[in-house]
Amino acid sequence: MEISFAGKRALVTGAGKGIGRATVLALARCGAKVTAVTRTQADLNSLVQECASVTPVCVDLADWGATEAALQDVGPIDLLVNNAAYAGLQPFLEVTPDQFDQSFNVNVKAVLHVSQIVARGMKARGSGGSIVNVSSQASQCALRDHSVYCSTKGALDMLTKVMALELGPYQIRVNTVNPTVVMTEMGRLGWSDPEKSKTMMSRIPLGRFAEVEDVVNSILFLLSDKSNMTNGVSLLVDGGFLSC
Ligand code: NDP
Repeated sequence: MEISFAGKRALVTGAGKGIGRATVLALARCGAKVTAVTRTQADLNSLVQECASVTPVCVDLADWGATEAALQDVGPIDLLVNNAAYAGLQPFLEVTPDQFDQSFNVNVKAVLHVSQIVARGMKARGSGGSIVNVSSQASQCALRDHSVYCSTKGALDMLTKVMALELGPYQIRVNTVNPTVVMTEMGRLGWSDPEKSKTMMSRIPLGRFAEVEDVVNSILFLLSDKSNMTNGVSLLVDGGFLSC
């Protein structure tokens, strides 16, 4: 399936590493002009070195005011990928207010905020658009030590549905991708222990974790006009984990 984003402008958050970084590079390869948002300048420097057409924006998305300022001149955006997230793992009885606030600030509140900024422009231009929120299988499945992370992703799935409902009339589609474990920096944090990863993998019918490219391809599909009638869904990229 050929997908072209020639003439489109995209914004990807959490663009420094892992899935976000690979999404930026894939969008650029498909012809989009990409704004890459993340909080570590060194990652943006290396990203621009790898792909000179990328516009870097360095900001901590947990900071509402700083995000507002950083994105005020971002210009028109057609495609948005809310990918940045924080995954601090704690047993339920040890969850701290700091971890709770940091997780919800990045994983939910920043998604709402960046989407507002971008969707207001989409609505004003009347040109429509597509937004993909990167959720997780953890939105629908209880995972030990993930009480806050699971809660943020559950909230993100529902936020996505309401956004789809309210933005649909402006031809702005909003969907999530919900991957299983991907061995990025974040994936290694939760699943490097061979015992844990073996147990998780044994519950995935395809018998493997997802590759970064598996997730990127689903994001590209949902951003593209190949999914023009798809709005408000959670696309599982989990090898069958949640369905079987
Ligand atoms: P990584 O940890 O590899 O990358 C996350 C990126 O987001 C980094 O560039 C990080 O920057 C950036 N980021 C985090 N917090 C902020 C912030 N406050 N402001 C700006 N940028 C920020 O994660 P993944 O690529 O694995 O995860 C991407 C998405 O996929 C997340 O939404 C995650 O929840 C989801 N996901 C991941 C799975 C996995 O197993 N890996 C499974 C299911 C879903 P920095 O490094 O500077 O903090």
